[in-house]
Amino acid sequence: MTESRKLIDSFGRVHNNLRISVTDRCNIRCFYCMPADNVEFMPRAELLTFEEIERVVRVGTSLGIDRLRLTGGEPLVRRELPSLVARLAEVPGIIDIGLTTNAVLLDELAQPLHDAGLKRLNISLDALDPEVFRKVTRRDSYDKVIAGIDAARRAGFRPIKLNAVSIRGLTEDQIIPFAELARETDTEVRFIEFMPLDADSKWQNDKVLTAASIKKILEDQFGELRPVPKSNPSAPASDFEFADGKGRIGLIASVSEPFCGSCNRFRLTADGKLRNCLFSLEETDIRPLIRESGTDEDIATAMLQCVAAKKAGHQINSSDFVQPDRPMYSIGG
Ligand code: SAM
Ligand code: SF4
Repeated sequence: MTESRKLIDSFGRVHNNLRISVTDRCNIRCFYCMPADNVEFMPRAELLTFEEIERVVRVGTSLGIDRLRLTGGEPLVRRELPSLVARLAEVPGIIDIGLTTNAVLLDELAQPLHDAGLKRLNISLDALDPEVFRKVTRRDSYDKVIAGIDAARRAGFRPIKLNAVSIRGLTEDQIIPFAELARETDTEVRFIEFMPLDADSKWQNDKVLTAASIKKILEDQFGELRPVPKSNPSAPASDFEFADGKGRIGLIASVSEPFCGSCNRFRLTADGKLRNCLFSLEETDIRPLIRESGTDEDIATAMLQCVAAKKAGHQINSSDFVQPDRPMYSIGG
């Protein structure tokens, strides 16, 4: 591959990681993502088919994409998802496929997904206390999530990775229990800062439970946290080891300490738009190219242009920040 055929932006960041949203539908209603009710979902005919997604991925591999992550909405509500995983696992050049899920449907799907070639699973769980879980998700699905996590373990996913969005005033008391879980079991836990991507546009900076505050809560309980050197410089999480050497914990400081400078990701929405950043205000619609007479070369050109136009970083901490129209569930987190 020549340099000009790489997905490289004007700041020299090379993109090899494509996040694919397979639906904007979801079976719970996390307040930091979706509205409580009356959600208008994309008409089904607008969703890319599995054939169409595979075509985009094939074109992407010719430009250096080698890692995929399936997301949504809730990806497991998309029918026949394991067959998409199996298709994508067969695409030459793809070395890794991950999935981010709320685990509500994982009890039935963990084994088929593993069999289809899914390598990595990130499970989103913001609270170990069922009542706090209900406040965040506005649904009573806690027991299903726990059953889904058990099924993932049985299916052979190791380690079990949990991602917890942390909200000031709501989830502080979940931090120590999560840390204990990480220390006592084969579970990796990462805390994520609340970002301004909620459908209700109620995000405020003072609701962000920052990575620094989380670290303080952990250190007050367990002693000094020691930074673990990053094995992958593009990984958003900073990992820390506990002072007694037992277990580790990850912090994703998307708001307070942005890691845009090392970002290697871009996104395909379920309705066929390319986005070069979660916070982008522009997107590139490739569905007409896919559905009408566009060639693979046209799709490649659209990808190259989309990545080339990527900004240096998000502006959350600036007074000029504008929240994108699409909330997280519609972008694909
Ligand atoms: N439904 C799946 C799930 O929840 O894992 C996949 C899609 S969800 C949009 C992907 C990730 O984005 C989840 O870990 C979720 O917690 C996170 N997320 C959603 N809205 C967020 C926000 N406003 N700030 C930070 N993380 C958010
Ligand atoms: Fe659904 Fe995931 Fe958004 Fe929660 S974060 S509402 S599980 S898409």
